[in-house]
Amino acid sequence: MSSGDTWVYDFSQGSKDQKDLLGGKGANLAEMTNLGLPVPPGFTITTDACRYYLEHGGTPDELDAQVGEHLAALEKAMGKTLGDAADPLLVSVRSGAAASMPGMMETVLNVGLNDESVQGLAEQAGSERFAWDSYRRLIQMFGKTVLGIDGELFDEAFDEVKREQGTESDLDLDADHLRDVVARFKAIVRDHTGRDFPQEPREQMDLAINAVFDSWNSDRAVIYRRRERIPSDAGTAVNVCAMVFGNLGMDSGTGVAFTRDPGSGAQGVYGDYLQNAQGEDVVAGIRNTVPLADLRGIDEGAYDELMGIMSRLESHYRDLCDIEFTVERNKLWMLQTRVGKRTAEAAFVIATQLVDEGLIDMDEAVRRVTGDQLAQLMFPRFIAGGNARQLTQGMNASPGAAVGKAVFSSETAVAWEERGEQVILVRRETNPDDLSGMIAARGVLTSRGGKTSHAAVVARGMGKTCVCGAEELQVDTKARRFTAPDGSVVEEGDVISIDGSTGRVWLGEVPVEPSSVVRYFEGEIDPGSEDADELVRSVHRILGHADEVRRLDVRTNADTPEDSARARRFGAHGIGLCRTEHMFLGDRRRHVEKLILAESDDDRQAALDALEPLQRQDFLEIFEAMDGLPVTVRLLDPPLHEFLPDLTELSVRVAVAEAEGHHDEGQLRLLAAVRRMHEENPMLGLRGVRLGLVVPGLFAMQVRAIAEAACERKKAGGDPRPEIMIPLVGAVQELEAIREESVRVLTEVFERERCEVDGLLGTMIEVPRAALTAGEIAGSAEFFSFGTNDLTQMTWGFSRDDVEAAFFHAYLDKGIFGVSPFESIDRDGVGKLVEIAVEAGRAARPDLKLGVCGEHGGDPESVHFFHDVGLDYVSCSPFRVPVARLEAGRAAL
Ligand code: PEP
Ligand code: MG
Repeated sequence: MSSGDTWVYDFSQGSKDQKDLLGGKGANLAEMTNLGLPVPPGFTITTDACRYYLEHGGTPDELDAQVGEHLAALEKAMGKTLGDAADPLLVSVRSGAAASMPGMMETVLNVGLNDESVQGLAEQAGSERFAWDSYRRLIQMFGKTVLGIDGELFDEAFDEVKREQGTESDLDLDADHLRDVVARFKAIVRDHTGRDFPQEPREQMDLAINAVFDSWNSDRAVIYRRRERIPSDAGTAVNVCAMVFGNLGMDSGTGVAFTRDPGSGAQGVYGDYLQNAQGEDVVAGIRNTVPLADLRGIDEGAYDELMGIMSRLESHYRDLCDIEFTVERNKLWMLQTRVGKRTAEAAFVIATQLVDEGLIDMDEAVRRVTGDQLAQLMFPRFIAGGNARQLTQGMNASPGAAVGKAVFSSETAVAWEERGEQVILVRRETNPDDLSGMIAARGVLTSRGGKTSHAAVVARGMGKTCVCGAEELQVDTKARRFTAPDGSVVEEGDVISIDGSTGRVWLGEVPVEPSSVVRYFEGEIDPGSEDADELVRSVHRILGHADEVRRLDVRTNADTPEDSARARRFGAHGIGLCRTEHMFLGDRRRHVEKLILAESDDDRQAALDALEPLQRQDFLEIFEAMDGLPVTVRLLDPPLHEFLPDLTELSVRVAVAEAEGHHDEGQLRLLAAVRRMHEENPMLGLRGVRLGLVVPGLFAMQVRAIAEAACERKKAGGDPRPEIMIPLVGAVQELEAIREESVRVLTEVFERERCEVDGLLGTMIEVPRAALTAGEIAGSAEFFSFGTNDLTQMTWGFSRDDVEAAFFHAYLDKGIFGVSPFESIDRDGVGKLVEIAVEAGRAARPDLKLGVCGEHGGDPESVHFFHDVGLDYVSCSPFRVPVARLEAGRAAL
């Protein structure tokens, strides 16, 4: 940025498409202003200015003058001067980043009030009480936010005055009491900052602006961004807006509204209203609100106007909007709108509703939902029964079924979760400081606040189960317990169950049932029948469209007939990874152990002979479940430590036996063999193709079992499509040796069985060297499947078994990466290797088939990457198959 830049925009100068520059709130205030809606005038200081401030430790030189010009224009529009002693203009100073970060950053209201203008405000408003209440709110917010004073000090002083007056309600305090509160607040400011509360209005405003910039880096904002994958350098805009007052009496108020139910997507009037209240009172859930529909009886004019504006906004944005508004003496003012957060269920339902209303098309409906939302809908829900006892019913703020031990503070939630407990965070109401506890908890339960309270909004954003406003519960966070209406007391550590879809709360563990979406995928619900609810019908239509538009095929990782069949019902088009080592667990493990430790050819052959019929039967059943679809069978790839006895344990056992005089020759031989085969780094050791090359006959046995099973299926009228995959190849020579042996075995079986089955022979690309020499490897492989788990492990040099527990939390905290590279593909590093291999592989063999079977195959972000680099398919666990189908569709649009 250079001099001459514009750092400040009037609301009338921007539009909803300028979120990056003006922040979400600023861009939408501009949009509403330009739509001619009743928005109080104001201006927005850009995110550029915030970035400049954070980078240079001060504001750009021109900012002061630009703010001055826009303030002058605002004063002119309002016919008042900021902080004027006789008739003050007051402003709000609010944060507003490009990505929504509810409650994470700061806001200061009533800027412009001081010892003189408070009198002027009293006269203009005709209420001393109102003016002094506004002043005390300013000092309280300013003191906490701008001056960094502990907010509790103000709360305590305020409570003290109420106690002295023998009341618990703010509304019982008159102007004199509030004047007293102001005096006490000012003393707190003086004591804690060594200076008086600033009286100069412009200084108040400038300090508040800088405090909003600073709040970008507050702890809770940093945690929230990390979790939501919001870039840490985006910065926030600041909106300076003429104040309107919802606390001027019972003909005033403030509220929050949604154009549809953000919980279920149902059409209707949704929101909360609070009479005679200001600003954050509703969102903070401090006093209980009335349903928005009640506004009709309170102020029909304002209600009708609001309904008109809501329907206009919904058509304009072509989406569910959420709205903050204030009524000042029967006059409606719009303070904010944005495309509203919603539950996963509502996202699907609203998307198809909007299609039916002609506002969007099916492509757009697919773009409007995400794989993560679909995954949430596949969670089970509670069913009646069990021994749990219902305690109460609160509001269904964010759906899902959560069971856990009640905890009453965020610290406890985090600590207990770290030791492996499932917890439910129980609070009277939450505030932004509770964020870490909400992340750690399975669910959140509050006794106060509506569906738009902090707890509800944040939980919905996280996809976390939440019941709020369970008013019958008396929550005592100090004593770490709550009391239910029947008198039962729930102490910290007692198990409770909460249902975010119905708002019910139980003592004890409630049994759960599968989701209707899963039942639909399982074929138990026909989407065209009466049984299908609106959600199932929406999911069916949206996934159907995603299937039509996607280019990527979706396969599954499965190694049992049951998983194969389920994945097929869920829409998998074949198997992309059948891990044969998973077929050797349980009883069969000893055969593998014998094979690996065999000292003679005879011993080895005996072990192979025992395994072969078992393998043949496995493949037969899987080919049957996936009849007509490709089945990629990966030859054995066990890290040895997973199959051999633990060296230390065995040594101890043998030593103890010897000491007790039991000499066991077999055990001693086993110990010697285990010692011989012991590896310090088994994940980098004798696995995959290396094992196939070192243990004669092993891979040949597997290939024979595959070929015989395929012939048997074919003779029985089936259509088996085997694809044989060699793991952990790093050099084409490894692959060539196994390929030669495999082709020989296949020919042998096909000749003997007088049967020919089409199939492919290919390899995994999971060692960096394989990616770098992919052109040569493609000469011997008909397909590549990227094993991004190992490829990530070996590219980063991170042990996939250890790092997540060992130090990833520190890496995440320090922002070295925003998400584990084992979870979501590292495009720049591991992704680069994938791109290199795709290009070189296809250049060498144009019809090379390309897929991915690492965990990333079911991760939404990664699916988009695999689409972009031109793979043919992704393969993932059965439950992720619908997610991958949806995301593959979204990637294609
Ligand atoms: C991989 O490495 O990505 C892979 C699919 O193989 P495994 O996870 O079995 O090592
Ligand atoms: Mg692997």
